[in-house]
Amino acid sequence: MQQSMIGEIVRTARRSLLAAFGLTALLLILLPIERNHSDQAIAAATEKARAASVISEQIRLEDERLTMSAWMAAATGEQRWIERYERHLPAIDRDIAQAKALAPSALSRRFDAETSKANAALVRMETASFEAVRKGDMPRARSILDSNEYRAQKKILSDGTTRFVHGLTAHAAKDLANVKGRKRVLLFMLSLLAGASFLGMWHLLNTRLSRLEVDYSHAERRLHMRAAHDELTGLLNRRSFNDRATEMIERANASGVGLTVITMLDLDNFKDVNDTLGHQVGDELIRAVGRRIMNRLPESAILARLGGDEFAIAANALDEAHAQRIIEEALGCLKETFALHSENLRISTSAGIAIGPIHADNVDDLLRLADMALYRSKSDGRNSIQMFSPEMDESVRIRRELESDLRNAIADGQLELHYQPLCNAPGSDMSGVEALVRWNHPTKGLISPALFVPIAERNGQICELGAWVLERAFQDARRWPTIITAINLSPRQLKHPDFLSTLKRLVERLEVDPRRFELEVTESLLLEESERVQNVLATLHLMGFRIALDDFGTGYSSLSYLRKFAFDKIKIDQSFIKSIETSAEAAEIIRSVVNLGHALHMTTTAEGVETQEQRHFLEAAGCHQMQGYLFGRPDTADAIADRLARQHRAVA
Ligand code: C2E
Ligand code: CA
Ligand code: CA
Repeated sequence: MQQSMIGEIVRTARRSLLAAFGLTALLLILLPIERNHSDQAIAAATEKARAASVISEQIRLEDERLTMSAWMAAATGEQRWIERYERHLPAIDRDIAQAKALAPSALSRRFDAETSKANAALVRMETASFEAVRKGDMPRARSILDSNEYRAQKKILSDGTTRFVHGLTAHAAKDLANVKGRKRVLLFMLSLLAGASFLGMWHLLNTRLSRLEVDYSHAERRLHMRAAHDELTGLLNRRSFNDRATEMIERANASGVGLTVITMLDLDNFKDVNDTLGHQVGDELIRAVGRRIMNRLPESAILARLGGDEFAIAANALDEAHAQRIIEEALGCLKETFALHSENLRISTSAGIAIGPIHADNVDDLLRLADMALYRSKSDGRNSIQMFSPEMDESVRIRRELESDLRNAIADGQLELHYQPLCNAPGSDMSGVEALVRWNHPTKGLISPALFVPIAERNGQICELGAWVLERAFQDARRWPTIITAINLSPRQLKHPDFLSTLKRLVERLEVDPRRFELEVTESLLLEESERVQNVLATLHLMGFRIALDDFGTGYSSLSYLRKFAFDKIKIDQSFIKSIETSAEAAEIIRSVVNLGHALHMTTTAEGVETQEQRHFLEAAGCHQMQGYLFGRPDTADAIADRLARQHRAVA
């Protein structure tokens, strides 16, 4: 857009320049030609005027000579005057012919009409006078020339000649004036033409350019809009959010009163909406969320979409409580159902708040802290608004440290594998163990997998970690050949292209019997790429491994998953077990999952069983297997081997 606009301007400017050059060149050629041409015309007219005046003077002189010769002949009777007269007569005829050639034909015709009779009469009378001279009759010769008739004809001729001569010189002068005038007019016209074309061109260029300018400013505005706004929602984008929020913070700081609230939020499990209902519905939801929040925010607040399902808010507030209220009010509207494409969607959101200048004094830091608070909201089970607190920063710092320490943990032998008993109901005999990894950090002591497994998942170390766990568990399990060993698989580990080949090599090398192992996977794995995941799970099954669905009830517990994948076991998440006594709903869910397990021929295992009450409830519900502190905490392989030996002795 910008390119073509600039191109258009360049083309227009080039065309105008070309036209201007062309016109100038034409003028440069035309002007000398015209000057030359008019100079010649002026020279010719000047010459003609000069010739006219010379010839006029000559005619007058010749006429005087003739008249004088005639008079002298009549006065003296000398023959030589007559001869002189006759010599001069052709000269005047010649002069008149010349003058006529210079004169316009109308003037010549008038001259002829006026003078030819008089001329003839005069010649006749002068010839008669000369006749008398030759005869010696001088009185008669004089009387002819003295007669009224001769004088009258003489006057006619002289007047006619004078008029002719005047006419002739006037005509030549007029010609000259005309030529000079024409030159002036021509030059004037050419300059006028040049001026007009320059003006026209300037006008054209000007209007064209101003139209381009208008187009360009529209395009520029659109570009600015695009650069400053998110395309999907029309909300601000990250860059313009940063600029505007910076202004808000600076204004608040300058005034010395008021706070600036920066909030980061995202929709919980938005990915599922995209995966199950399609991107179109997902996009529509994002737009609707943006609109709803916008309508609830105070006028001075700003809302941006930072990407995906992530939004940011900046608002002015009087104090922390006010800040919290503004955000709660703005996000409260998201709890209502969204009706999109005949789908009624209910969503929840997680948000993190940081307040300037209490927590930080610039947008970047405030956004970072709000993001930490958001992270906390997510890890605390989502669907909440968290205010940043300094200990979050601390936990992030610790996470970063762990991240870098974890790189050496495996190579340095800092990982350990503990095992937690899985007991068959109703007795408390161990029918299996679950392998749970621990990190024995050189300075921080034992670190929970709940802390470092997600880190390993994020930085890609999970495959290495997972392979270590598999190998360790396969080796340890040789010590308890009569029971099942469960091993946790992370989604990222299972989806890795090399996962199956690594596992197969390991199985061959350690001569593992897969039927003695159970692989635990979580529901989140099943949400995406179901075809590929299904193939991997099917292969694992074919190899002989049992597959358990871990943490059932925390994700998108759906019957369709249970039908699609042939799980051997469902592990009911410990959050349900914890709520058995307090929540009738949790108890009901447990009962129905256990029934479902029976119907689908799957084992059901209850996790996190800590009390006898829980155990009794689960036994009554028909749960096959239990796991929890009531039956045993995770312990070392030695401890498990000892316990199993005791168990065997007791049976014996
Ligand atoms: P999980 O698979 O649900 O493992 C059970 C967790 O519950 C274990 O925590 C266990 O110590 C704890 N637990 C067992 N009984 C009770 C009880 O009665 N009360 C309470 N409050 N907790 C109980 P742990 O060992 O901290 O492991 C946490 C999570 O880390 C595991 O949850 C699992 O998702 C993950 N994890 C552990 N080891 C591995 C591993 O080798 N690979 C992978 N990918 N993940 C692992
Ligand atoms: Ca597990
Ligand atoms: Ca579990």
